[in-house]
Amino acid sequence: MSRLESKASEDSSKTELGSSLNYTLSKSYDSVTEEANWREYWRQHDIYHFDPHDKSRKAFSIDTPPPYPSGDFHVGNALNWCYIDFVARYKRMRGFNVHFPQGWDCHGLPTEVRVEQTFKIRKNDVPPDQFVEMCRKLTGEYIAKMKQSMNLLGISSDWALEYKTMDPSYYKLTQLSFIELFKSGHLYRGEHPVNWCPRDETAIAEAEVVYQERKGTLYYMRFGDPTGGIEIASTRPELLAACVGIAVHPKDEKYKTIVGKTVTVPIFGQKALVISDDEVDPRYGTGAVMICTFGDKTDVRWQMKYHLPVIKALTENGRLSVDDPRFKGLKAEEARKKIVAELQAKGRVSKTETTQQNIGTCWRCQTPVEIISRPQWFMKTRDMTQKVVDWAGKLVWVPPFSKQRLIDWAESLDWDWVISRQRIFATPIPVWYCTKCGTVIIPEESKLPVDPRKDTSPEEKCPECGSSELRGEMDVLDTWMDSSITAAIHAGWPNKSDLFKQLFPADLQPNGLDIVRTWDYYLMVRSLALFGTAPYKTLLINGMVKGTDGRMMHKSYGNYVVADEAIKKAGADAFRQWAAAGGSTGYDIPFRWNELEYGKKFLTKLWNVTRFILANTAESIPQKNLSTLSLIDRWLLGSLHNLTKEVSEAFETFQFNTALEAIRNFTWHALADDYLEAVKHRLQPGRDQADLKATQYCLREALLTICKLLAPICPHMSEAVYHQFPSTATKSVHQESWPEPDQTLDEASIRNGKLLLDLIAHARREKSAKGLSLGSNIKRIVISTEAEHLHLLKENEETILRTLKADSMDLERFPPNSNQAKEPGTGFKVEIVA
Ligand SMILES: [Zn+2]
Ligand SMILES: [Zn+2]
Repeated sequence: MSRLESKASEDSSKTELGSSLNYTLSKSYDSVTEEANWREYWRQHDIYHFDPHDKSRKAFSIDTPPPYPSGDFHVGNALNWCYIDFVARYKRMRGFNVHFPQGWDCHGLPTEVRVEQTFKIRKNDVPPDQFVEMCRKLTGEYIAKMKQSMNLLGISSDWALEYKTMDPSYYKLTQLSFIELFKSGHLYRGEHPVNWCPRDETAIAEAEVVYQERKGTLYYMRFGDPTGGIEIASTRPELLAACVGIAVHPKDEKYKTIVGKTVTVPIFGQKALVISDDEVDPRYGTGAVMICTFGDKTDVRWQMKYHLPVIKALTENGRLSVDDPRFKGLKAEEARKKIVAELQAKGRVSKTETTQQNIGTCWRCQTPVEIISRPQWFMKTRDMTQKVVDWAGKLVWVPPFSKQRLIDWAESLDWDWVISRQRIFATPIPVWYCTKCGTVIIPEESKLPVDPRKDTSPEEKCPECGSSELRGEMDVLDTWMDSSITAAIHAGWPNKSDLFKQLFPADLQPNGLDIVRTWDYYLMVRSLALFGTAPYKTLLINGMVKGTDGRMMHKSYGNYVVADEAIKKAGADAFRQWAAAGGSTGYDIPFRWNELEYGKKFLTKLWNVTRFILANTAESIPQKNLSTLSLIDRWLLGSLHNLTKEVSEAFETFQFNTALEAIRNFTWHALADDYLEAVKHRLQPGRDQADLKATQYCLREALLTICKLLAPICPHMSEAVYHQFPSTATKSVHQESWPEPDQTLDEASIRNGKLLLDLIAHARREKSAKGLSLGSNIKRIVISTEAEHLHLLKENEETILRTLKADSMDLERFPPNSNQAKEPGTGFKVEIVA
């Protein structure tokens, strides 16, 4: 039996709390209705509002990642947003003025690809303006859907701060940041090979290349003299046209004499220089490899190192651009087949082998990427590696291992960040060029936003040569250029007022482990270049959600769960409990329906406890009076004090699973199983008033504290329970202060109270072992125990007798050094006399 099942069955075997008492609450908690009502209440009272003028509270700023509006808010997103919301709600209760904006990263390839798929067109089939309009419209629809999902989940973002990167008011700031970086020398335009998606016909960044294992064929081809020459193995014969050199290992004896000579490339006839380089693996193929411009990154390095020529054999849509009419215009795959056939006809292929390849593919469309050289805009990120590493070390990373991801990534990059894209739906690059002398013309800040694809140059003539032949840049910016400055934009940049100091750098940067190397990296380099500081202080990283079968969640695996569906089925608070308890922060967590079920059961238990307490306490709040508190009361309050400490520490360190487990254990076991069962008799009519008041005080104190501690994770339920106490709940529980642990209680009460409760639990088991119901009266209870416990039990005789419904109690001392008398694991032996 799993942990969850055993807890659940344990619960159902218990008698329902206070079944003979009157209720003021509906019998069951209907999460669908209740949660919708409370969300409406929050909306009406605008309780998540960030107040920029509030000087009395310290600001806490969250730089929420703006998701791509894909329309699909999957459980991975939901996990990410749950973490953010736990922190936001906790910090509000801690007295912070929480800045929790939500935005949308609208631009870029994902949206364009979706428009192309949705309307079954290619980007060039319609005029650019119309294409952009289609993108905007689809984006708007998707945003509406995702917003609904976030609301359904009870996310407490401040919608007054919503932003969309496609709005002119936003992208004018992207353009401004471009101009500032250009002026400060962080950007340059140049021709350098970049990763290129031939399907999407755009440059892509290294971070957008996904490596996949695929099977390929290795062709052994003879170069030069058909009988002598040199044999070369390659998986890409289609690049023969771009072959500019041949590389061998310096220690490879069989090629010693040929190094420094040239060899004729078959079919295309150009001469390729043979060079020797340590990077060649002499065991791969024949030990001689071709250098093509560009087959891979090594080719790029060798071309530069050995000053080889560049032959551009591929067009931007991945077709062969050679003069030879047999191959001109063929796609890479077709060209490969035809060239191999030609080589075979000439007897130049000696053998073929199947080989395993690690191929770089486009993150959006899985097309193998090519390396293409053409003029692009770059940000000088390579120079910043050491700075990024240094700053990474100054920040708080949750979990700590995620820091290394950023460092490894920064250190692995050997190219600058290519920030230009050859697409349409994106922020235009705000520059014009003089076609005569190449001077770059940038607009004044007040003219932004601009669209050089349509707008005329802000200058009539080139400031350098006076030519009036000016043209606007047709390329656009990488979408990360929009979204990697959100923290500064929220803080009011370019206005560096008071607000900027309050909100920047952001206190919290929450995102998934998968985008540490993209998102967190780009944020860091942008901010270091623009502001000289990291844009965040603490990084809260969530793991990935695995499917119900333990594999990564994917639509094609059939293990995919839509967040909305799960929330509608189990309720947002149950879903949020899964997010909190599913695993340690930063580690992958599986999606489990039974975790949601357990979450629901817990809420039902809490609701029943609330009903019991409401039915048994007066509306007026009993005062705490230390002199009337029994040992069990002191134990409860002491345990509550420890719970508050533990949960507070867990929230401070973002260990949500620890927080939730502690709250659930306390509610279920300490409060419901132990305390309530032990004090029921004190709530009966005719009981001593001081005793009654002490019990009522403890019950309410425990319940209201649980409510507050649970509020960040189960905001709806906490609010619902909290409002059952109108004299206490004058506002939302989310506007309340976080509970402070009570310092006046001692450890001895906790220890002794626990001992007493253990005895009661033990005696109850004995009672039911005898076939007696818990409510039936018994004549006598005989307890044997250690000498040191006798006094404590005598003192609490009344509690023991009343709880167990016994007429009398006999205490006996264990004989010294006798262990047989005790039951394993307890300090007692109990005998029931019916
Ligand atoms: Zn692509
Ligand atoms: Zn000029």
